[in-house]
Amino acid sequence: MIKLKNLVKTYKMGSTTVKALDGINLEVADGTFITIMGRSGSGKTTLLNMIGCLDRPDNGTIIIDGADITKLPRRQLSKIRREKIGFIFQQHNLIDTLTALENVMLPLRYVRVPKKKAKALALKLLIQVGLQSRINHLPKQLSGGEQQRVAIARALVNKPVAILGDEPTGSIDTETAQAIVALMRKLSKKNNQTFIVVTHDPIIAAASDLVVKMIDGKLYQEDSNINILGKEDKLII
Ligand code: ADP
Ligand code: MG
Repeated sequence: MIKLKNLVKTYKMGSTTVKALDGINLEVADGTFITIMGRSGSGKTTLLNMIGCLDRPDNGTIIIDGADITKLPRRQLSKIRREKIGFIFQQHNLIDTLTALENVMLPLRYVRVPKKKAKALALKLLIQVGLQSRINHLPKQLSGGEQQRVAIARALVNKPVAILGDEPTGSIDTETAQAIVALMRKLSKKNNQTFIVVTHDPIIAAASDLVVKMIDGKLYQEDSNINILGKEDKLII
């Protein structure tokens, strides 16, 4: 379970202040696939950075797996990030000189899993994403969709509680995106892992358990019935 309570983050640039997060409240049960949509500048990446332990809010609490991470000292925060969070970005960020298998092994090597065990786990994940015949390929020898599958395997290999995606289908074609989304959804259900995905992509939104909209640092829950009546989306409080 991930619980966000009254998250506030303000950036100061000279004399201007930007309230990137303006009181975010959200509860996401394990195994939920949730999409966050919203215009550029609405605070989506800032929110992912907070949940991903890459940055801290000014105010509010973030509960991951029962613990309030906002209270943790820096070192423990990076431990949580390495052990409980997986990231999938628009650009896959794979290491060019490493094979698919070696790329997927990396997060495990960071937390000192022995090489043999890391290899076995990485192989298992590459099989799950359908790349058993590509394990020794370098990123440049893989298609865009295959590279993104490797990135997904890498994000999942240390069995994180939450997988955070920032426009994960932003640089692949629609057909491939559809397959990638179906794969992410399948994995979230199979492993009971939470996916929080920022996207403009209606394909991802359609495959989600929950779609929330971000506007000026606030989250709104899309309610199709409400929208049909032409009323406002509901602020999540
Ligand atoms: P999104 O991902 O929805 O496009 P961001 O979370 O990146 O939005 O940014 C939200 C707002 O906060 C924007 O107005 C942006 O300019 C501002 N912002 C983000 N990061 C910083 C930063 N490190 N310093 C100053 N302002 C920032
Ligand atoms: Mg962004």
